[in-house]
Amino acid sequence: MALVGDDGGIRSRVMAKDFDAIVIGGGVAGLTAAAYLAKAGMNVGVFEQQHKLGGLAGAFSRGDFLFEQALQWVVGCHPGGAISTCREELNLTLSFRQLDPWSRQIGPGFDVLLSSNIREWVEELCRLFPKEAEAIQRLTADALKLFRRIPDTPRKPNDMLTRWEKLRIGLTAVLNMRLYRKYMGISIQDLLMQEFRDPQVRTFFYSLCPVGSASSLLLLTTIGWIKEGRFHYPVGGGQAIIDSLRQVIADHGGEVSCGTAVEKILVEDGRAVGVKLSGGATVGSNYVVAACDAMRLYQELLPAGAVPNHVLENLKEMEPWTSYFLISLGVDDSVTELGSWYHHITYCPALMDALDSEDPTHWLINVVDNSFADSLHAPPGYRSIAVGAPVSFEYRQRWRTISEMRGPEYTALKEEVAAALLASAERILPGLRKRVRVADAATPITYRRYTGNWKGSRRGWLPTVQAVSWLRRETTPLLGLFQCGHWYVPSGSISSAMQSGKNAALLILREAGLS
Ligand SMILES: Cc1cc2nc3c(=O)[nH]c(=O)nc-3n(C[C@H](O)[C@H](O)[C@H](O)COP(=O)(O)OP(=O)(O)OC[C@H]3O[C@@H](n4cnc5c(N)ncnc54)[C@H](O)[C@@H]3O)c2cc1C
Repeated sequence: MALVGDDGGIRSRVMAKDFDAIVIGGGVAGLTAAAYLAKAGMNVGVFEQQHKLGGLAGAFSRGDFLFEQALQWVVGCHPGGAISTCREELNLTLSFRQLDPWSRQIGPGFDVLLSSNIREWVEELCRLFPKEAEAIQRLTADALKLFRRIPDTPRKPNDMLTRWEKLRIGLTAVLNMRLYRKYMGISIQDLLMQEFRDPQVRTFFYSLCPVGSASSLLLLTTIGWIKEGRFHYPVGGGQAIIDSLRQVIADHGGEVSCGTAVEKILVEDGRAVGVKLSGGATVGSNYVVAACDAMRLYQELLPAGAVPNHVLENLKEMEPWTSYFLISLGVDDSVTELGSWYHHITYCPALMDALDSEDPTHWLINVVDNSFADSLHAPPGYRSIAVGAPVSFEYRQRWRTISEMRGPEYTALKEEVAAALLASAERILPGLRKRVRVADAATPITYRRYTGNWKGSRRGWLPTVQAVSWLRRETTPLLGLFQCGHWYVPSGSISSAMQSGKNAALLILREAGLS
């Protein structure tokens, strides 16, 4: 199918050909899928609506500073992990620095460093909260038992698992049945209420995984990651991952078009056959990979009736992960001498129940040193850091916007929240504000606008028990259409999005007889 353009511009001429596969979205998932497809010899085209690649995993510059849009750490860099495997298979030029200890948790009654020496911090917790010692030890022991017994999942789609791999996973499930039964059906919030009487201990464990309605398995997994020293920071930040993937695509003849939104997926006889771009051009392909927001895919990009109604009905029942308020700061290097400075801090100014209050001075905040792994994020003598808080998209009736249009009321609210979060950060890092040279704030509206993620979700769907059972992985009800990214994995992250991109590519290659 030839490209039919109505803008007649350079872009149309560059893209004037068919593709074996089209990828919608140049986030980390879409780029991973495209890199695998291009490396296997497919003619691939990536369309990214923004003028820059990366989606949430990317970075942006202000003056001499490089700021992360999202990244605080990555998992999956251990041998056999999702990121290491992609790095090896795609020859990505990437290096990582381990974060061990991972984070400093500060809150009412605790100030604890979370290192892989789990015995040390569990003992410290038991000393701080002797009446809860038994429950603390029980929860952490269960987490480690569960984590030890779960084999690293094979780095491929479920329906490409060998019989032996399926057997191994089945056996693990049987071995873990008691723990699954105990933890799978209960949310983090309910588990902490059930296990601990002391609200300070509840707050400590909540700070490890501050998503109350998510399945408690997520909290247990986080404890396992800490024990195994799984947290890393990429040298060059998220942008290094994005740039290395882009390089692989270019090296293998793939094409990337930024500033080009896909408006519709073209469907003929129940099969995806290409896309319609903003500007009206249509491009044909044998396969389409949707590496974008799930709501947009099913509600906007696909024509009515293309997928069964129950798929859309299920989506309406799902809840997105909460969004985020991010303040990116270029600061003097002397920030490292302040109060409780650490490369990653989670600070709870209030007890668990109050952390979700309307008052931003109560919100849990993260302080992250983007300059931890390299000197690329800031000029000499400075650091790039971020102060941020998880927050709802609906806060103060959708951030005082009208249909997400940002006016003076939105700006005033943004400034008010930024000031409150910085005041909170000052309590653990007194003198921080005086050291700020450059500042930039992003709200959930910014995340929504910039990446299209529904309700500014930062990791796709919230991994509630219900969501995990409904979740569709990389295949879709439509022939020729695959999906990948953080909306199609049980728990969104850079590593799971990359794995999902790889899975979509492997399924296509198998179907095309190229695997
Ligand atoms: C504040 C915050 C902190 C986070 N911290 C971490 C962390 O520390 N560690 C970690 O591992 N993960 C973290 N995450 C999550 C992680 O960043 C994401 O899960 C991951 O980057 C998602 O990648 P993706 O490719 O699936 O989606 P996205 O990054 O959302 O990419 C989708 C891309 O598709 C494009 N797009 C959408 N619709 C269209 C269209 N119609 N046409 C063309 N292009 C389109 C978008 O512009 C975007 O570039 C964080 C997220 C946030 C927001």
